[in-house]
Amino acid sequence: MVKLAMEKKSSSGNTITFLGIAGARFMVTKQLAASGGLWLSLGGTEILVDPGPGSLVQSTKRKLRADKLSAIILSHRHLDHSADVNIMVEAMTEGGFNQHGWLFAPADALGDEPVIFSYLKGYLEGIEVLGEGKSYSIDNVSFSTPVRHLHPVETYGVLFRAAGHTFSYITDSRYFDGLCASYASELLIINVVLLEARQFVDHLSIPDVAHIVGELKPRVAIITHFGTNIWRQKPWEIARRLSRQTGVRVIAARDGMRFDLAQLDE
Ligand SMILES: [Zn+2]
Repeated sequence: MVKLAMEKKSSSGNTITFLGIAGARFMVTKQLAASGGLWLSLGGTEILVDPGPGSLVQSTKRKLRADKLSAIILSHRHLDHSADVNIMVEAMTEGGFNQHGWLFAPADALGDEPVIFSYLKGYLEGIEVLGEGKSYSIDNVSFSTPVRHLHPVETYGVLFRAAGHTFSYITDSRYFDGLCASYASELLIINVVLLEARQFVDHLSIPDVAHIVGELKPRVAIITHFGTNIWRQKPWEIARRLSRQTGVRVIAARDGMRFDLAQLDE
């Protein structure tokens, strides 16, 4: 009986695995931390979000099976979010022998200079274009892309509804009014590159995160996608300060960290 219960749990678990916490150029190009994106396992549905450089290596190393993926979602075309999309489509479809799965991406990742090779498109069940205010579903997971971000290329964050929970992935953006309002949910995953806001750099900073978390008061917030200055200041210490400041449990992601959505019920 115990074995049965454990098996059931592992096949219907609800987890988010961080395949890398590096954001911004130097963190990624020097691989000061990994940069493979987020792997969602939601009641048996597997979704890969933002497969940056090393996604294949990081996922196989952690025994995550690409052939089980139902979809790959790109928040935008920047390399640290899309570099491994081709090889992950190849892995998802077993080199095209097992045609299945969907790719979701903004129009400008698929247009004149597409991030995906044309010969791989036929391996997929289909490609869906992400757009502001649109909703989508994959098996038992539904998600929406509520608002276009302020970032040099077309970019959307994602609000997921799955397994009786809501969680948001607030990807790269400069802060703007309306960002907060779009992502109210139990768990916020926030890409934060900058220690302090900088003019002409379209990324969130630690003070922005304090503001967003303070406004939305999620049950848990996870910060990730760090730039070099945050890395030097130890993200886990920054997270501790943010927790004190906001009264919300703030966690600094680590390479390979697995967050179980059951923690939201605690
Ligand atoms: Zn970006």
